[in-house]
Amino acid sequence: MSEPGKPASPEQDLQALESLKEAASTCRECPIGFIGTQTVWGDGPVRAALMLVGEQPGDQEDRQGRPFVGPAGQLLQRAMDELGWPRNLVYVTNAVKHFKFELRGKRRMHKTPAQREADACLHWLESEIAHVKPQAIIALGSTAARQVMGRPVKVLAERGTWLTRDDSIKVLVTLHPSALLRSLNDRESVYAAWLDDLRKASPIMRAARKAAG
Ligand code: SF4
Repeated sequence: MSEPGKPASPEQDLQALESLKEAASTCRECPIGFIGTQTVWGDGPVRAALMLVGEQPGDQEDRQGRPFVGPAGQLLQRAMDELGWPRNLVYVTNAVKHFKFELRGKRRMHKTPAQREADACLHWLESEIAHVKPQAIIALGSTAARQVMGRPVKVLAERGTWLTRDDSIKVLVTLHPSALLRSLNDRESVYAAWLDDLRKASPIMRAARKAAG
């Protein structure tokens, strides 16, 4: 615990995050908690320069218990590599911490979380933001954008522009990588446009790399 009036140290914030992760592991505050395998908490350091927020874990994330380890995560990693963003300066998480799906045969197909489910999960996301204290957030897709901004965001109209939260944290909105995986036409130009959106955050990452030595 930090002393009253004194900001928490990174060690105190890390400790608080670990306690929250533990508490979230048994969360059943919405129905998705009863169908997912496990809570998928965020991954990355406190004081990460950037926090990347997706919608919810997918099939692989649900099995492995880590965010962005499936096909969408691999595409995100490709983009980060091309942009020269070190993974250890980024915190990745999701707006909703459990995997919502429906069975089609043996396949577990992604189902978009209901707004009330995303809202039930919001306090976990806000607690991550409060303790990681990122310089900026990238919201990947409309669920993430809405939850991070606290209002509906038209992703296609506002992608690639910086928005500002009530707490003054800057937010860049763009597509979720899974939307790119679903696009049937002209995948490389869709990817290039997405990379251009993400590149807007590169000055923050350059400064963070310099500060980290
Ligand atoms: S999705 Fe979020 S609110 Fe719902 S049970 Fe899981 S952790 Fe709790």
